[in-house]
Amino acid sequence: MNRATFDLYRESGINEKLIQLSVLTEERIKSRFDEIDEIAEYNQLKVLKAFRKNRISESHLGTSTGYGYNDFGRDGLEAVYADVFHTESALVRSQITCGTHALTIALAGNLRPGDELFSPVGLPYDTLQGIIGIREERGSLAEYGITYAQADLKENGDFDYDAIRAGINEKTRLVTIQRSKGYATRPTLSVERIGELIKFVKSIKPDVICMVDNCYGEFIEKTEPSDVGADLIVGSLIKNPGGGLAPSGGYICGKTEYVENAAFRLTAPGLGSEVGASLGVNSSFYQGLFMAPVIAASALKAAIFAANLYESQGFKVVPDSVEKRYDIIQAVTLEKPEYLIAFCKGIQNASPIDSFATPEPWDMPGYDSKVIMAAGTFVSGASIELSADGPLKEPYNVYFQGGLTYQSAKFGIVNSLNELCKAGFVLK
Ligand SMILES: *Cc1c(COP(=O)(O)O)cnc(C)c1O
Repeated sequence: MNRATFDLYRESGINEKLIQLSVLTEERIKSRFDEIDEIAEYNQLKVLKAFRKNRISESHLGTSTGYGYNDFGRDGLEAVYADVFHTESALVRSQITCGTHALTIALAGNLRPGDELFSPVGLPYDTLQGIIGIREERGSLAEYGITYAQADLKENGDFDYDAIRAGINEKTRLVTIQRSKGYATRPTLSVERIGELIKFVKSIKPDVICMVDNCYGEFIEKTEPSDVGADLIVGSLIKNPGGGLAPSGGYICGKTEYVENAAFRLTAPGLGSEVGASLGVNSSFYQGLFMAPVIAASALKAAIFAANLYESQGFKVVPDSVEKRYDIIQAVTLEKPEYLIAFCKGIQNASPIDSFATPEPWDMPGYDSKVIMAAGTFVSGASIELSADGPLKEPYNVYFQGGLTYQSAKFGIVNSLNELCKAGFVLK
C-alpha cells in the first residue's frame, strides 16, 4: 500500500496496526486473485461472445410500453442470457420481483396437482420453505396439492445417495438443487458436484426436471449448472448477474418448454413471454450482465480477504481462509452481540450510500430473534453490493457478501474490524 492510500485509511480513523495487518493479509492472498481474474476473463469473454453473436445494437437498449409486444431489446437480452448459460431459452424480466419470485414461477409453472417436488440437498432457503408449504403460507404449493420430500446431506456434506434413491418415486416431477449454502452451514456445491447429482437423479428417473437455485453462484466458476445437465437455472438480478446495475429482476434459463411454463405463470396462460413491457430497464440489464463477471470476481476477492483477516484474529470463518469457493457469501462467527453490531456498523459506515446511518437490531417478521442489517447500496437491498446481516443470537454469526469494487469492499471489511476494536476487541 502506498503512503497516500495509507494516509487515507488513517484519516478515515483506521488504527495503524490494523492497516498494517490488512496489508499483510492482502499479500498472503494475492496469488489467489490471479486464479479469480483468470476465471473472470473467461466469463467476460463468454458474455461478450453472446453479445456479439446476437448483434446487440444501440437500439436494443431502448424500451417498450403497454403490452410490450415485440420488445426487440428484451428479446435480445433473453437470447444473450440463453447463450451465456448455454440453454435453449431464457426469461429475464423486471416483472420478476426477486429471486424468491423467480423460483416460485419456475416451480408453480412446472408442477401440477399430484406432483411431488424433491430436494436432494436438505432444507431449501428460508423463503422457499414458504413457497413449498414446509412453513404454512397462503397460496403455497402444498395448498395446490403438490407434495414435497427431501433427502438431507450426510453429516460430512456428501450426498446421501441411498436416501435420494428412496426419495424419488412415481410422483416426483421436479428436483430442486440449491447451489449456494445460503445462510445454512452446509458447504456450497461446486458445479461439478451438481453435475454428479443430476446424473444420479436422471439415472433413477430420466424425465424428472432438474432445477438449480443458482443464487450467488453465477460467474464464480467457468461453468454453470446448465452446462452439467440442469434443465432450469434460476436467480436474482440484484445478485451476481445484474452486475450491480440491474435495478430489480430475476431470470430463468433452461429448456424451452420449462421456461415457457414459468412464463405462463409469470404473466398468463397463452401469453407467456410475449408480453411484459421493459419500461426502461433494458440498458441496465445489458450493461449489468456485461459487468457481472468482474463484479462477481470483486465480491469473491473481498470474501477471501475478510476470511483471512478475521481468521487471523481468531474468529471462526466459513468458508475458511484457504478453501475453494463456489459462491460469494462469507460467514464470520463473532461470538458477542456487541461485535455483531460493531461489524454491521463498520460495513454501513464504509458504504457509498447512507454511510452516516447506524444500523440497529430490529424484530424482523419471520425471525425468532432480532436481526441487524447493513446495506448502503445504490439498489435497495442488493446483495451483490457490500452488505451484511446476522441474527442477534448465539453464536452471533454475521453473513456478508458483495462489493461492487474489491477496493471499496476491502475498506469496508477493515472498517468493520476497526469498529470491533472500538467495541473492545484487541488485535492479535
Ligand atoms: C437470495 C437467495 C434466494 C432468493 O432470495 P430473494 O431475496 O428473494 O432474491 C433464494 N435462494 C438462495 C440460495 C439465495 O441466496
